[in-house]
Amino acid sequence: MSQHFSGSLFMVAAPSGAGKSTLVNALLAQEPAIKLSISTTTRQPRPGEEHGREYFFTSAEDFKQRAAQGEFLEWAEVHGNYYGTSRIFVEEQMKAGTDILLEIDWQGARQVKKQFPQAAGIFILPPSFAALEERLHKRGQDEVHVINRRLLAAGGEIAHAPEFEYVIINEEFPVALSELSAIVRSARCRFAQQAARNAKLMSELGIHADAE
Ligand code: 5GP
Repeated sequence: MSQHFSGSLFMVAAPSGAGKSTLVNALLAQEPAIKLSISTTTRQPRPGEEHGREYFFTSAEDFKQRAAQGEFLEWAEVHGNYYGTSRIFVEEQMKAGTDILLEIDWQGARQVKKQFPQAAGIFILPPSFAALEERLHKRGQDEVHVINRRLLAAGGEIAHAPEFEYVIINEEFPVALSELSAIVRSARCRFAQQAARNAKLMSELGIHADAE
């Protein structure tokens, strides 16, 4: 089924505090053609977060009901809350040729990869464990017990880095951003994506995507 989608699918995962959201936001500012999928979550909004911008916030009851109805392309429990990706949003955008970026954890990335083997998995690592700890404290948005739980969980998330095709070490922000941008650009040049976007050119040149 994946060959019907001309858009590229990117999955970015990281332990909390690796600087994932900052990197992703900078990428999206550079590459406005990429759409970020807004997940649904049962976690409480942080100060400054808005329903429909960072997340769609909902109750656990509503989430579970929607998960049972197959509304989510993937979903997982992370740090004691549920998070899920809208199936309809991703499929419709990709059919229309739009590139989609998912900010999800390793459990979600595994589920997506089963359905979209061409999805590019990118894992962001901090330059050291100490840097991770410092960034989580500096963010100051979460209470200390939440930070400690996330630090413990960080080790668990990092253990899954080998399941991702690409790894970025976020030490120097501009370097990390240019690496992320390079991954996106190279994924767009994959044969399947080029052929889907340039069907007319391929046929004019006598190139048949199905040829073995
Ligand atoms: P936060 O609560 O800090 O925004 O996110 C916590 C974790 O949940 C992060 O690792 C983030 O990538 C992950 N996450 C956010 N949205 C989704 C989603 O839709 N699915 C999955 N599987 N993980 C998500």
